[in-house]
Amino acid sequence: MPSVRFKKILIANRGEIAVRIICACRELGIETVAVYSEADRYSSHVRFADQAICIGPAKSARSYLDIASIISAAEITNVDAIHPGYGFLSENAGFAEVCEASHLHFIGPKPAVIRLMGVKERARAFMREMGVPVLPGSPGVLSTAEEALELAEKIGYPVILKASAGGGGRGMRVVTQAEDLPGLYAQAQTEAGAAFASADVYLEKYIGAPRHIEFQILADEHGNVEILGERECSIQRRHQKLLEESPSPAVTDGLRAEISGVLRKAIAAAGYTNAGTVEFLMDETGKLYFIEVNARVQVEHPVTEFVTGIDIVKSQIRIAQGERLPDILPGPVELRGHSIECRINAENPETFVPSPGRITGFHVPGGIGVRVDTWVYTDCVIPPFYDSLVAKLIVHGCDRAEAIDRMRRALGMFIVEGIHTSIPLQQKILADEDFRAGRFDTNFIKRFMPGKG
Ligand code: ADP
Repeated sequence: MPSVRFKKILIANRGEIAVRIICACRELGIETVAVYSEADRYSSHVRFADQAICIGPAKSARSYLDIASIISAAEITNVDAIHPGYGFLSENAGFAEVCEASHLHFIGPKPAVIRLMGVKERARAFMREMGVPVLPGSPGVLSTAEEALELAEKIGYPVILKASAGGGGRGMRVVTQAEDLPGLYAQAQTEAGAAFASADVYLEKYIGAPRHIEFQILADEHGNVEILGERECSIQRRHQKLLEESPSPAVTDGLRAEISGVLRKAIAAAGYTNAGTVEFLMDETGKLYFIEVNARVQVEHPVTEFVTGIDIVKSQIRIAQGERLPDILPGPVELRGHSIECRINAENPETFVPSPGRITGFHVPGGIGVRVDTWVYTDCVIPPFYDSLVAKLIVHGCDRAEAIDRMRRALGMFIVEGIHTSIPLQQKILADEDFRAGRFDTNFIKRFMPGKG
């Protein structure tokens, strides 16, 4: 039995994830409150929620990131809980604390755990102590360039300097030789300080051609932890993922079982609850190394939902109600078939320049094994203020080859008129021989489109 039952949830987000959370709430019989900026007045999350409140102008800092406005909206509408989605306030420990202080359930991990995972070199030290493989690197934050030089000498070049509070690939510098280190160290500190209000930087071994592989976790408030397999997210441009799949073509059953085993213990020891993702890099020899934890639901969660049959967003809500994982999950976690997600962005497929504007024609594909998560419709306007994600097209097949064929036919039946989208680029990726053979790393896009990676 849940310790509480939510009657109403406020969704502190916009776009497709806000609609996704509304879907989960409707199936659970929970009412929803949408918040929106003036630019999103006609967005479908506003239409599908039971109530909607305008929380400010288009600029995120004055709407979707404005904690006082969001808490006021929650109090006026008398909700029980807040779902933060991804991005915006989802990994803001201070926001989770304000929710708790206002007697609102925050649908995510506890503030102290969000804070631990947000300080990347602390999360790294914690995972290493728990027996999770991490890359050789500094034990904590670097205090001087001399210390960095000494460590880099020991580890061997190339190394990477990373911002302790980093995110979105900012504050990182790759160092290939000692003489460049002092200058790049200063640059990384300055960039980190400007972007994250903390100039703390740490160092680790740099992998030249890694695969990005991440494990999905669910943990309840009673100590139960489940690992829902992994996602392969190596098809990315400038650290922005374009196409994701599950399972990874590079992860064997043995490796999955080994990593799942150590992760289960580490996540329980951290007191981590709700959904989360543990990101790893795979080196050229096939070994996985922890890089960071994302303490929230991910954009690419649907590929895991397709192969496991588990609704991750409903699980998040039920965990926050105090329910136990054995009561939430349909049975033991098993991976069935293969799933791929393509992000359909409003951008030029060749130059990647954003392409906001009015959608004049919109048709989504359907049929067996096809899912579309979107917030747009014919005649809606994509505002220029937020991310460019228009829709996610996700397919499921009995194996990887069928999933690729299904994705190609579904992309061919996806019509978006009036703006540019990434659909032609996704078709090129799916037709590529190396991609089809599962032979790729995070440099794939660079090799594929020289000068644009
Ligand atoms: P952020 O939080 O800014 O996204 P991450 O630690 O997740 O930072 O790293 C983002 C990306 O940077 C990774 O997906 C990978 O492509 C690259 N990267 C990070 N650390 C390393 C490393 N040690 N070696 C090679 N590439 C790395």
